[in-house]
Amino acid sequence: MKKTDVCIIGAGASGLCAAINVHRNYPDCSITLLEKLPRVGKKILSTGNGRCNLTNVNVVPSSYNNPDFVTPVLEKYSPAVVVEFFESLGLKTFTDREGRVYPRSNAASSVLDALRFACQNDKTEVLCEYITESVKAQDDGFVINNDLFCSVLIISCGGKASPSQGSDGSGYVIAKSLGHSVTPVLPSLVPLNVLPEKVRALKGVRASNVKLTLFDEEGSDTSVGEILFSDRSVSGIAAMELAAFAESSLRGGNDPILSIDFLPEFEKEELNEYLRSISIIRANQPVDNMLSGILPKSLGISILKECSLYYGGALIDGFNDEMIASLTNMIKDYKINVYGTRGFQSAQVTKGGVDLSLVKSASLESKLKKGLYFCGEILDVDAKCGGFNLQWAFASGLASGELK
Ligand SMILES: Cc1cc2nc3c(=O)[nH]c(=O)nc-3n(C[C@H](O)[C@H](O)[C@H](O)COP(=O)(O)OP(=O)(O)OC[C@H]3O[C@@H](n4cnc5c(N)ncnc54)[C@H](O)[C@@H]3O)c2cc1C
Repeated sequence: MKKTDVCIIGAGASGLCAAINVHRNYPDCSITLLEKLPRVGKKILSTGNGRCNLTNVNVVPSSYNNPDFVTPVLEKYSPAVVVEFFESLGLKTFTDREGRVYPRSNAASSVLDALRFACQNDKTEVLCEYITESVKAQDDGFVINNDLFCSVLIISCGGKASPSQGSDGSGYVIAKSLGHSVTPVLPSLVPLNVLPEKVRALKGVRASNVKLTLFDEEGSDTSVGEILFSDRSVSGIAAMELAAFAESSLRGGNDPILSIDFLPEFEKEELNEYLRSISIIRANQPVDNMLSGILPKSLGISILKECSLYYGGALIDGFNDEMIASLTNMIKDYKINVYGTRGFQSAQVTKGGVDLSLVKSASLESKLKKGLYFCGEILDVDAKCGGFNLQWAFASGLASGELK
C-alpha cells in the first residue's frame, strides 16, 4: 500500500491552501492531494463571475453563521494575512470601494495559478481523477480507498453546492463514516423561483439598491442590493442571499413571500409627494412616463400595470391621490410568492455541514480522532456574497495546514 505523511482530500480553494501551508511548516513531510476532477481548483475559475472575489477587507466573525467558531481562525488569518499569503505566491490584488478584493489581473485563473504553482514541489503529489470513496481510521492513521495510507488526513471536499465543479456532498459521507455528524444542508446564494405570471413582464429588468424582505408565518430575512428578473426567477446578489431562508421556510411547510422595496431610501410620504409633483410636472405626458424619473422604464410600466393604472393613450394628468397612494404602496411593497430555489445545482454555497461541536475551533482538528482535520465549506460555516466564503476557505485551509 502506498504511504504518505499527509493526505488532503479535495484540491479546491481550502485544500490547496492546506497543502501549501503543510509544506511551508513541515518541509520534510510527504503530501498527497487527492482530487476527483481532471484538474485542481475548477470552482475557483468561476468565482466572482470569472474574476474571483477572493476576500473582503470588512470580514468580521459576525459575517458568518457561527461567529464564535470562526473567530480564532480569522484572528490568525485575517483578510490582510490572506492577501499577504497570495502576495507571497506572486499574486497582486486590488480592493474595490465595497472592500471586495480581486486579483489585479481581474482573472480568477491568476488566483488558481498562484495556488497550483505553489503545490508543484518534490514533496507534494497531486492525484487528479482520484475519487475518495472510503476512509478507514486506524490507530496510527487512515486508509483511503484501501490503497493509500496516511498519518494525517485533511478533509476539504467542499459542500454540495455546484456539484459540476466537484463538490457533490461525498465529503459528508466520509465525515459521517469517521463518526462526525452533519447538520442539515441547504443550497445558499442561488436564485429564487417565483410564479411566472408575477415576473414575466419584468424579464431582463435589473434594479439596484432595492431592499428585499422574505417572510413567512414564522420569521423573515432581509437584504439590500441588486436584483435581476428572469421569466420565472429573481436573481442578483440581494435575492440570492435570501435563498437559504426560502429553502428552510418551504421545508418547514410555509409559504414564503418576497416583498420588494424598490426605493428604500424614500419614506412613503416623501414618495407620495414626489409622485404628486410628477403628476403636475408631467401632466401632459402619457402614463408610461409616470415613473421613469425614478425606476427603469419597463419596471415602472409593470408597476403601473400591477396597480391597474396603465391605459394605452391615457395621460398622467388624470392621476388622483388614491392612484398615487396605490403606486407608492406597490413600489415600496411589491409582493411575489416564492415557491423554491434553483437548488444545489446552481447554488454558490452550502448552508450547514460538518457539525462544529466536534471540531476544535483554532486548529480545525477533530475532537474524535487525532490527526483528522477539516477545512473550507464542508464545515457548517457560510456567509453572504462578497468574498466571505473564499476568505473562510483560504483561512481555514491555512489553519488546518498548521497541523496543530
Ligand atoms: C459560481 C460560484 C461563484 C462563487 N464566487 C465566489 C466569490 O466570488 N467569492 C467567494 O468568497 N466565494 C465564492 N463562491 C463560493 C466559494 O467558491 C466556495 O465557498 C469555496 O470554493 C469553497 O472552497 P472549498 O475548498 O471548501 O470547496 P471547493 O472549492 O468546492 O473544493 C472542493 C474540492 O474537493 C473535490 N472533491 C469533492 N469530493 C471529493 C472526493 N470524494 N474525492 C476527491 N475529491 C473530492 C472537488 O472536486 C473540489 O475540487 C462561489 C461559488 C460558486 C459555485
